Amino acid sequence: MKNIAYYNGKIAPIEEMMVPMNDRACYFGDGIYDATCAVNHVPMHFDAHVDRLYRSAELIDIRIDMPKEEMKQLILDLVAQVEGDTLFVYVQVTRGVGMRNHAYSGAATGPSIWAFVRPCKMRDPYKAYPCITMEDTRFLHCNIKTINLLPAVIANQRAMEAGCEETIFHRGERVTECSHSNVHILKDGVLKTAPCDNLILPGITRAHILDICARKGIPVIEEPFTLEEMMDADEVFFSSSSALTSRVCAIDGKPVGMKDEKTFAIIRDTYQEDVAKECR
Ligand code: PLP
Repeated sequence: MKNIAYYNGKIAPIEEMMVPMNDRACYFGDGIYDATCAVNHVPMHFDAHVDRLYRSAELIDIRIDMPKEEMKQLILDLVAQVEGDTLFVYVQVTRGVGMRNHAYSGAATGPSIWAFVRPCKMRDPYKAYPCITMEDTRFLHCNIKTINLLPAVIANQRAMEAGCEETIFHRGERVTECSHSNVHILKDGVLKTAPCDNLILPGITRAHILDICARKGIPVIEEPFTLEEMMDADEVFFSSSSALTSRVCAIDGKPVGMKDEKTFAIIRDTYQEDVAKECR
């Protein structure tokens, strides 16, 4: 199949799928999601993504009634049915279907499970990308992967309009993350990345990068960094399950980074090797 979608037991190509208007996703964005890429039909960092899906749900008081193992099997069955070497794998859980009412006790049927799989192109990890910056006006629960994404949608649109790849968010001087990825800097051979607090999503790729740094002897500082530090860094790169490790060459039209290819290449190449091993 070219793509496949799932909603509460119904399976069809995504273009044919219909969902009930009263699903709380439509009125409130009342749900969470997770996403990764599958290479050779193996979802990358699969367990970590499924674990984060359940964790996000718990954080907004949604109890997913499908056991994790069943969820994994469902996703693998969908992935197996779609053609392509690299696929985008998306799963969303909303609070369910019910008459519009802000408070949710008794208002919904129980969680709705949504998923789709379609072919995707992963970003070229050997290219460098221009980015823009924007004040981070998102709410204060960015650690939860909710489907409320309006500020991220607008930020990514602004990047595209500027001919750029990503928008790097900052709250005042503090850099947080990007519209749909985490951002890191290298300075004097040390990787600096924002700590996992409520201002960033704990990226699965970010965690993998920290693991690579530990294995390769690259020191890491998990502390907030400023816009000034970023502009002065030896390397700036952003990471996500589809962006992998994407190097940044310019921010707001000014050249940045591109001065420590050796350290960056250790991270990038090890990451590529790890994915190749995992998704054989
Ligand atoms: N930060 C945000 C806001 C994201 O939306 C994403 C991915 O969608 C990430 C970071 C990177 O997360 P991961 O590496 O788990 O894909």
